[in-house]
Amino acid sequence: MTTIAFIGLGNMGSGMAANQAKAQHKVRAFDLSDAALKRAAENGCETASSVADAVKGAEIVITMLPAGQHVRQVYAEQVAPNAKQGALFIDCSTIDVDSARWTGAEMAKAGFRFADAPVSGGTAAADAGSLAFMVGCEEKDFAEIERALQPMARVVFRAGDHGAGQAAKICNNMVLGISMLGVCEGFALAEKLGLAPDKFFEIANASSGQCWSLTTYCPWPGVGPQTASDRNYEGGFATAMMLKDLKLAQAAAAASGAAAPLGAQAEALYALFDRLGYGGKDFSAVLQMLRGQLSRL
Ligand code: NAD
Repeated sequence: MTTIAFIGLGNMGSGMAANQAKAQHKVRAFDLSDAALKRAAENGCETASSVADAVKGAEIVITMLPAGQHVRQVYAEQVAPNAKQGALFIDCSTIDVDSARWTGAEMAKAGFRFADAPVSGGTAAADAGSLAFMVGCEEKDFAEIERALQPMARVVFRAGDHGAGQAAKICNNMVLGISMLGVCEGFALAEKLGLAPDKFFEIANASSGQCWSLTTYCPWPGVGPQTASDRNYEGGFATAMMLKDLKLAQAAAAASGAAAPLGAQAEALYALFDRLGYGGKDFSAVLQMLRGQLSRL
């Protein structure tokens, strides 16, 4: 049995911490929210009174926090000063590459091993223990990190050194955001041209327009496999989350000098959809904006 401190028990962290407890680890959980702490206790975790209290004596510290500033602050000010020597730190939040590199370097200076390990899969996969992890860490630490993530994971990749996990995540999600918009524009044009959506799906799916956003996550309700579009775009991957990742990708593109003009267009379109009040809807709901059919949502 390993003692794991788990910090950040929100939509994602609560299921992830529960899966560590189910795997018979001793989980010392902390969140700023009392409701989140109560849920963690119901899920078999011990609750802690602060980050410092949670990490004391823990062999592994896992965090699932909103953004880069939270991760920098929690590790530098609360985790490192209170953690046991030799503890392994794994941050699963989606944050900017610079914050991941900075935290990795600061933790190394303080004598700790650190990994950025953002996830793909959303809350259903967090609850089911079937997340995909993209890890940035020193090669020598990867086997232990993979073992630690196993109760929460379907698959664990090492992307490279510190920051590489975040890089993989935001590049993947930029491709996803752009490809979903492409598929939605295809459906919107097909409709105007009098082509039935199921016929367009059948043909594009067997032609060069085929991609994950079409085949696996079709945005048109009632066409293709069951997706968020069949639940009026509830659940799934929220527009606000996609927008966050596209903003991270644009910031990284600006800082590194990469050209990502379609990523910028995707960010602008998702920002508009979010501004119109649809940040909580699945990101594939952007189809209805492109069709001029927002009243369907
Ligand atoms: P969330 O807002 O539900 O949870 C974040 C939790 O962190 C909250 O409960 C909050 O109280 C807690 N928190 C914030 N500051 C804290 C501090 N200093 N100490 C202790 N707890 C603190 O967010 P979420 O949906 O669980 O997402 C978490 C991370 O996972 C984000 O970086 C997000 O981008 C990423 N992510 C989310 C999804 C998704 O579908 N929700 C999918 C993949 C990745």
